[in-house]
Amino acid sequence: MLLYTHTACLEHDPGPGHPECPARLEAVLHAVRAAFPALDWRQAPEAPRDALLRVHTRALVESVLDTKVEGQHRLDEDTLLSPGSAAAALRAAGAGIAAVDAVMAGEARQAFCAVRPPGHHATGGTAMGFCLFNSAAVAAAHAVHAHGLHRVAIADFDVHHGNGSQAIFAGDPRVMYLSSHQAPLYPYTGDPAERGVGNLANATLAPGAGGAAFRAAWGERLLPELEAFRPQLLLVSAGFDGHRLDPLADLALEAEDYRWLGRELAALAGRHAEGRLVSMLEGGYSLAALRACSVAHLQGLLDAA
Ligand SMILES: [Zn+2]
Repeated sequence: MLLYTHTACLEHDPGPGHPECPARLEAVLHAVRAAFPALDWRQAPEAPRDALLRVHTRALVESVLDTKVEGQHRLDEDTLLSPGSAAAALRAAGAGIAAVDAVMAGEARQAFCAVRPPGHHATGGTAMGFCLFNSAAVAAAHAVHAHGLHRVAIADFDVHHGNGSQAIFAGDPRVMYLSSHQAPLYPYTGDPAERGVGNLANATLAPGAGGAAFRAAWGERLLPELEAFRPQLLLVSAGFDGHRLDPLADLALEAEDYRWLGRELAALAGRHAEGRLVSMLEGGYSLAALRACSVAHLQGLLDAA
């Protein structure tokens, strides 16, 4: 398994007290390095602007990359730019592109992108919900356009619905988006009735739901849809904010639930995509949960690799 990251991803600073803090990524990196000393670590390159423009408007790309920031620049109530944000966002998106290239070239079957800021709330034209560029969407579009794939899937188990990923691909049958998420919860999208052109699958979880409900949502509803889609490449939006310790949401998942889903996703990629799977860090705001769940997620991927 490859691991893509970059120190620039630690330099995006939304300000004191903000939950999407650099310590999140440090926690993941330290835990993963200790648990899996044999992973092949690689520097994430910067995403080229052309790759960002496949899914984002020029206005959004320029607002993130070309705004002169001193101190902080507020894009919405909880989404901010600091002087290091443009470089972090470029490396986060670039990690996904490089990971897709590597698994398509057969350098490895699996890759994990340990990056921030997260991406799945960013729509084509709007940075929101702590997200600047939608790195998973950029990676999916790269797989379609640069590698000619026509069945790419994004499986998103962050506790929040990935409204941005859904909106970007809602009319594009080449990309399937599947999500489990707490409802009601920000950003208040992702009703199961939202099906796009048959390429969206949403499963909602009630506040307080635990591993049994989570495993039922994936095992009985989302994984069968993903199986039927037969993805040629599986991308994962890996957010760990459904853990019981997370301060921003109300689910009661345990690390072992993330290991279970990682194993299921990797096995499915093995059946349809020659094992090709690229997982990207999204949310997760308890440092203890991030440590345990990122390790459990990767263990699950490796169990079925
Ligand atoms: Zn989240």
